[in-house]
Amino acid sequence: MQLTIPSNIWRKIMQYAQIASPKEVTGIGLVELDPETDDHYIVKDVFLPQQSANEVSSEFSETGLHDIITDVITNDISNATKLRFRWHSHGKNNVFFSAIDNADIEEWKSDWVFNLIVNAKGEYRVRFDQMRPIRIRNHPVELHINYLDGSDSMAAVQELQRKVTFTELPNPIPPKGGSILD
Ligand SMILES: [Zn+2]
Repeated sequence: MQLTIPSNIWRKIMQYAQIASPKEVTGIGLVELDPETDDHYIVKDVFLPQQSANEVSSEFSETGLHDIITDVITNDISNATKLRFRWHSHGKNNVFFSAIDNADIEEWKSDWVFNLIVNAKGEYRVRFDQMRPIRIRNHPVELHINYLDGSDSMAAVQELQRKVTFTELPNPIPPKGGSILD
């Protein structure tokens, strides 16, 4: 199973994490199945609800989460089934799923959810959980940051195409004295 995060969204999450550090920060996001595959998912957007946060926890304000969900669904009703990504930062601390994090995941309302933890150093951990029909806990996920999808400048791509010629490896050179077919 793979989760792809476009680089512009990844940068946004890391900016939230580094600005908040050493305090935590938590948000949600939209995730979609890549239609070409059956187990590759793509994060489409992330949101930052009103919240209060300290070094060990963050808590959404009473209306924080509700306001975001209302906005997102008003924009596009199909987003309702895509709100299945939760991310949070551990400030300067290690990235691991704490007892509180595990309890939060158990409270999750939709059928499945991806959870990402980052810290200000850029370390991360990601997991997938399915709630229904069968509970699957902590399924491993490969995280892929896509630097070719997003609103970033494509200058590096264009420069590479201009300057680098990719060549084939040379054919194996026969051993001295001729090939084994002689
Ligand atoms: Zn945590």
